[in-house]
Amino acid sequence: MEPLIVIFGSTGTGKSDLAVELASRFNGEIINADAMQMYRGLPIITNKLSIEDQRGIPHHLLGNIGLDEDPWSVVHFKREASKIISEIRNRGKLPIVVGGTTYYLDGLLFEDRLVTTHASTEGSITSREELLARYPILSAPADVMLAKLREIDPVMADRWHPNDVRKISNSLEIYYTTGRRASDIYAEQRKQKESKSAAQESDVTKAPRHVLLFWLYAERDPLNLRLDSRVDKMVQNGLVREVAEVYDWYQSRLSSGETPDRSRGIVQSIGFWQFEPYLRAARNSPASPELAKLKQDAIENTKTATRRYAKYQVRWITMKTLASLQAESLLDRLYLLDSTDNQGWHDAVAAKGVELTARFLAGEPIPPPASTSETAQTVLASCVERSNRQVTPCNKTCTTCEKTFLTEELWQKHITSKVHAKAVRLRTRSSVVPFKQQKTAIVVADSIALEKSFPEEAREAGILCTKDTANPP
Ligand SMILES: [Zn+2]
Repeated sequence: MEPLIVIFGSTGTGKSDLAVELASRFNGEIINADAMQMYRGLPIITNKLSIEDQRGIPHHLLGNIGLDEDPWSVVHFKREASKIISEIRNRGKLPIVVGGTTYYLDGLLFEDRLVTTHASTEGSITSREELLARYPILSAPADVMLAKLREIDPVMADRWHPNDVRKISNSLEIYYTTGRRASDIYAEQRKQKESKSAAQESDVTKAPRHVLLFWLYAERDPLNLRLDSRVDKMVQNGLVREVAEVYDWYQSRLSSGETPDRSRGIVQSIGFWQFEPYLRAARNSPASPELAKLKQDAIENTKTATRRYAKYQVRWITMKTLASLQAESLLDRLYLLDSTDNQGWHDAVAAKGVELTARFLAGEPIPPPASTSETAQTVLASCVERSNRQVTPCNKTCTTCEKTFLTEELWQKHITSKVHAKAVRLRTRSSVVPFKQQKTAIVVADSIALEKSFPEEAREAGILCTKDTANPP
């Protein structure tokens, strides 16, 4: 058996501490799977464990790239992390992967979530720098990349949200590194998997049994309080100084004529955009009486952004990671550790994690995941229920709200929502009223009904204009 421990969960749940605890008990080494923590320096805004808290455990992929570098693609991460995992095993030690960048973990764990790069043309490209140098479009804005992807692989282009830079560039990268369209590769993998699973449907022992997964979960309200106080602590420890460092670096790139991507890299770290107005004012008019207020706003906005990020991470886990684990018959390897209560963290998380890992490594039977706590039972059951729910893929854009939806269910929910109805009313009032008084009156009264029953009319009145590029042939 070649065991692998994987720890994930939202920010503020103590993942890194659990990793260190397990590594020190079981002779492990840690591989970081948090894109921001790969950036060198900036320990506060990237939330890195201090050297002291690392307790002498070797950490890999931590602080290994410079501010100028792009975050790694999932393909790149998988390649490097896999290499490190086997090196750790060769040293007779236990690899422990920990991180909040869940798409890295998904890429690492699930073979069919991405294309491994030992394909045809890969041999000639040895680094990401080389790849970018050869295909500069991979650093182009999302719409340019999407247009290219639409040419090369329209099926994948339809699958991604137009703002999802990462997925769009990933699909392009697959094409450039393998010479094949991602959609063709996925289709082939699906076929292989179907024939494989038909052959071994009843033989669950064939599923990869060597991985043990820990999901550190905290209930939202207590977690939010904890995240708020963590931001306060970060401010005390020098958050503003680090954000200013990134700000100056960003400004120097701007003034040297570059147009850095605002949606990628270190500028995505928590706090950067939130502190930008304050830093700009502090640089331009350091004596301004406004500064204190701007700083307070920045802190508040950073708290909001941190909470939102945690929510996003949990959503990803419940929507995507769990569905993938279910598809791979690995749900019985997923242990939810309840880190809601900060005081009880050691018993509920560290001690339980150690006990489960000990059994797992010794090859002893492990209790079923739902039995480990009440929270585990409730949360896991509702996740499974959700992932069993049917979704119908589509790619529909509401031009009124400028939002794109990738499932029919979300689309339906949107066009019948209050938010959408309000946007329609506003638009109707501002653009249509002067010309079509009477019709608009009806529209304002019952725009949703109109859209549903008379989409043509609605479109004509400028209410709803949808672009349906769904369901490729
Ligand atoms: Zn809308």
